[in-house]
Amino acid sequence: MKKMLAAVFHKDEKSGGEIKLEEVDIPRIKKGDHVLIEVKASGICGTDLKILKGGHPATDNTILGHEFVGVVKEIGENIIDLKIGDKIVVDPNEKCGYCINCRRGLSNLCEYMALGTTFGIFQNGGFAKYCVLPRNALFKLPDSIDMIAASLIEPLSCAVHCHNIADVKESDNVVIIGAGPMGLIIESVIRKHPIKKLISIEIDQWRGQKALELGADHWINPKTQDVKQEIQNITNGEGADVIIDAVGIADTFEMATAIWAPGARLICFGQDYRAEAKIRPNDIVRYQRKIMGSYIGYPEDFLDAIELIANKVIEVDKLITAKIHLDEIITAGFNIMKEKKCVKIITLP
Ligand SMILES: [Zn+2]
Ligand SMILES: [Zn+2]
Repeated sequence: MKKMLAAVFHKDEKSGGEIKLEEVDIPRIKKGDHVLIEVKASGICGTDLKILKGGHPATDNTILGHEFVGVVKEIGENIIDLKIGDKIVVDPNEKCGYCINCRRGLSNLCEYMALGTTFGIFQNGGFAKYCVLPRNALFKLPDSIDMIAASLIEPLSCAVHCHNIADVKESDNVVIIGAGPMGLIIESVIRKHPIKKLISIEIDQWRGQKALELGADHWINPKTQDVKQEIQNITNGEGADVIIDAVGIADTFEMATAIWAPGARLICFGQDYRAEAKIRPNDIVRYQRKIMGSYIGYPEDFLDAIELIANKVIEVDKLITAKIHLDEIITAGFNIMKEKKCVKIITLP
């Protein structure tokens, strides 16, 4: 059987685990709705780092990589709308279509996903030359799309979802807490819409500068500045109308509830299942504020993210820090990620 290079996760109950480069069998189509994809680009995600540190579950002996694009190499007998050579992007979160959440239009909360089905986390993903996926996990891309740029579609779809949940208006002062890769991608989406002020809150110097480069009007560093006072100054005492917490710890949640304007929307985006924060319910009631979660996205958010990339609306060059070969994923990929001086790193097989 023919072999290919792949980055495989090996679980360790104590430390989380490690990723190893291995020669594995090229996967084969087993069902009528399967498609064999030749991977063209695959982004490294913060979740991949979390998996290696034990902060996110994943299946032992799985090929990681859940943000990837490729071309169709082979199709199962039931596929009627894809042909060899078509460009595709993968939605790694496969939906069942029949659970109560799917049928209520909340497919991002599909009960089937809770079983641990995500491609590139619980099933084989994109850090390899080939991958077999079911048709319903694939979105067809326009022929003219740049495939490296297209590898941002998956995280971008989550940012589009967040932007829609926030329902951002022209008269809003928008604050994004955390300028990690997702905070910055959300910023890129919001920046494309007319708003009053866009403010980034970030403790890291490199990331704060990056937030400014991507179009934030202000960067506040909570290490050296009084966040509440700075927000007051920038917004003429109005406060933040939309706050996106792209970190998700108690400190950032409580920071958000210290700067929110009357009528504000707080969108919880960053995840840390251990976090517990304090809140005064009356601050919500008396000033009619909203606290909302934004979790991955709907299929329609994928469609919008595809258009944003295909039409070159998003400045991908500012979001892609490095393009590396798959065999450098540990040395150049994960090591740069750990130093935090990067937005997205894209691996090419
Ligand atoms: Zn991701
Ligand atoms: Zn479902």
